[in-house]
Amino acid sequence: MLSAHIDDLLQRASEGQRLSPEEGLLLYREADLNDLGLAASAARQVRTPGKIVTYLVDRNINYTNVCTTNCSFCGFYRPPGHVETYVQTFEQIGERVAELVRVNGSRILMQGGHHPDLPFDYYTGLLSYLRQHYPSIEIDAFSPSEIENFSELYGMTIREVLTELKAAGLAGLPGGGAEILDDEIRSRVSPKKQKADDWINVMREAQALDLATSATMVIGFGEDLNHRMNHFMRLRDLTDESLAAHGNGFTAFIAWPLQHSEMTSMGRSRFKESFGATPVEYLRHMCIARIMLDNIKHMQASWVTMGPKVGQVSLHYGIDDMGSTKLEENVVSQASHDTYQRMSERDLHQLIRQAGYIPAKRDTRYNTLKVFESPEDLPDLPPPLPSPQSKVTIQLTPR
Ligand code: SF4
Repeated sequence: MLSAHIDDLLQRASEGQRLSPEEGLLLYREADLNDLGLAASAARQVRTPGKIVTYLVDRNINYTNVCTTNCSFCGFYRPPGHVETYVQTFEQIGERVAELVRVNGSRILMQGGHHPDLPFDYYTGLLSYLRQHYPSIEIDAFSPSEIENFSELYGMTIREVLTELKAAGLAGLPGGGAEILDDEIRSRVSPKKQKADDWINVMREAQALDLATSATMVIGFGEDLNHRMNHFMRLRDLTDESLAAHGNGFTAFIAWPLQHSEMTSMGRSRFKESFGATPVEYLRHMCIARIMLDNIKHMQASWVTMGPKVGQVSLHYGIDDMGSTKLEENVVSQASHDTYQRMSERDLHQLIRQAGYIPAKRDTRYNTLKVFESPEDLPDLPPPLPSPQSKVTIQLTPR
């Protein structure tokens, strides 16, 4: 009886039909992983038909590591006054964007901690500077919790903050800081960070202003499947609302397991063995994401945390995007010794082709820039790349 019900749900999921949270939870708990993979792959074909797997050439840049929010899973931040704090100048950030231009990149993803003292014109000035000097590079910057920090610091509404940032050159908001969109978990692991409603509200405003937005999720804080399903439903409900209101919802979803080496408070906890998630749990989770988030078109692999090989396998579990080359990444990698740094376009091509798919380069809104139909059709070899860690310990006085 139960297996017949699960088969029926898998069939409906394969056809791209909407499942209720209760139905999704039943699949999450009971369905065989390979059956889930087949259903998620079929649902992927409903939403993004064909053999194309996309990727982006980009760089993550962190303008400051100063933060007053002290999340227990974060190894990146330093409190104000700490000897290792830094704030980057416009010119230092510009140098790194120039390196991205040299490898034919198209997007930077720029985030920082919650700095208590920088003036608002540091952010608008930085965006204007980058737009003026590197007009070919799209700027996705400032996750919802940073936007809320700006709103509180400068006495502006969320809408006013986003409007001014957009006018200065902001193209989109990364989905960072979502972790688990359930306040029971947020209160435990990041009590000073914005609550789930506030994260959703910033994204609602960003979507109304036609900014590009993506959704993220981190699993393995000790949450149960109900918390995870709540997260999916918050994203699905907002996407329904935004698509109906103005046609601009989340472009993509990406999830990864909590990284928790001894560099973070959670990694030093006596319960640390219970945190994080195995590759099998990760694949299972992404299948459920593909099935439940039926109004978000693209699912990204997280090869930075899962490794290139699991990232490759995930293409058969509902994922249609390999993420990006990551010329630089400092936040997730400073919570663990086990993350992966930087791949070339050719590396990504090899992974995608070996999995039976066709690589295509995209922009931040998933417009296709180039399809590489033939295996002989290779991207240019990039010039030697700089060390991704070489620029992150500079100390400066804030502008
Ligand atoms: S995760 Fe973000 S908000 Fe939390 S401590 Fe780290 S930098 Fe600050």
